[in-house]
Amino acid sequence: MKKFVLGVFFLLISTYPLYAAVASVAVAPIAAGVAGGATAAPGVRVKLDTATFATGCFWCTQAQFQQLKGVKKVFAGYSGGHVPHPTYQQVCTGATGHAESCNIIYDPAQITFDELLEAFFVAHDPTTLNRQGNDVGTQYRSEIFYHNARQKERALYYIAKLNKEKAYPNPIVTQVEPFTSFYVAEHYQQDYYNLHGTQPYCRHVIQPELEKFKKVFADKLISATGHENNPYYSNTDIKHLYVTNAEWKKILPPALYATAREAATEKAFTGQYWNQNAKGTYYCAVCGNLLFRSDAKFSSTCGWPSFMEPVRKNSVIYRADNAYGMKRTEVLCGRCESHLGHIFDDGPPPTHKRYCMNSISLDFHPDK
Ligand SMILES: [Zn+2]
Repeated sequence: MKKFVLGVFFLLISTYPLYAAVASVAVAPIAAGVAGGATAAPGVRVKLDTATFATGCFWCTQAQFQQLKGVKKVFAGYSGGHVPHPTYQQVCTGATGHAESCNIIYDPAQITFDELLEAFFVAHDPTTLNRQGNDVGTQYRSEIFYHNARQKERALYYIAKLNKEKAYPNPIVTQVEPFTSFYVAEHYQQDYYNLHGTQPYCRHVIQPELEKFKKVFADKLISATGHENNPYYSNTDIKHLYVTNAEWKKILPPALYATAREAATEKAFTGQYWNQNAKGTYYCAVCGNLLFRSDAKFSSTCGWPSFMEPVRKNSVIYRADNAYGMKRTEVLCGRCESHLGHIFDDGPPPTHKRYCMNSISLDFHPDK
């Protein structure tokens, strides 16, 4: 994929207000960076800012900062070097001077630079020189590339404060340097954790770091199902969606993607809703489509949330499923065609149907 020089461009983002268009994640990287604000209505003026951080392997940094409310887009790339248009292979040698970095595009009305700095110091160990865990080399250094005097002042303030409070057993070695350029990394480096969450490095290195990060910033996270970054999510729009799996994969959390788009079945008795009795409404976790009311839910011993009927006939659609040598009927969301579960004829009267659903494919809104 063609690489883009975004240095000057992102400086412009820091300076000028932008129109947040309806987010379309499939557009070219530059436009995606600007249009990442899925929560803004078309034509609403939103001034976005940029923070550029290096905290070791950018796969991890990107996965962490994507979790934060107000962060609109995170690009993995290379900053702080002296070779234009570096490749990953060149950066890996340490000879280009670049650090694996992330350009974090955020809405300062929703998250401040100070909050991003707090996240920066939790996201990695800022006391190990040119090293994060087993990743060793100047390309894994800890660095804040400030975009203006205020960012510089806040970065230095936090470092001094944390050192004074002895927040870490060793002094902070984070470098604070002016932002000069940012080169977006190769296409295959973007959203690496979201797309390859089951790979060993992701599971053993990134996932524990990510869990720790999410615990610390629990009150600042996007919702569990990430609707803020899902431009298709709506509880009222009933227009049919034609979205490719490649696109859903970029938007949905890996576990939801696996169930909803690849028909993985969650383990019985492990989901959030199988034994829930609360009154409320269940929506499609992928697109927000209205699916079931709690009145139609009955307690089932199967370990998955079970319903007698959907709210509307066209809330769901059906498809023959002959996988695993069984003749079953698959139930899909009527709007986005995501896999919800299966339907069986052993439900209670009057319908005698059992819509056997995966909890993860559902969003529950309790009655107020
Ligand atoms: Zn749906």
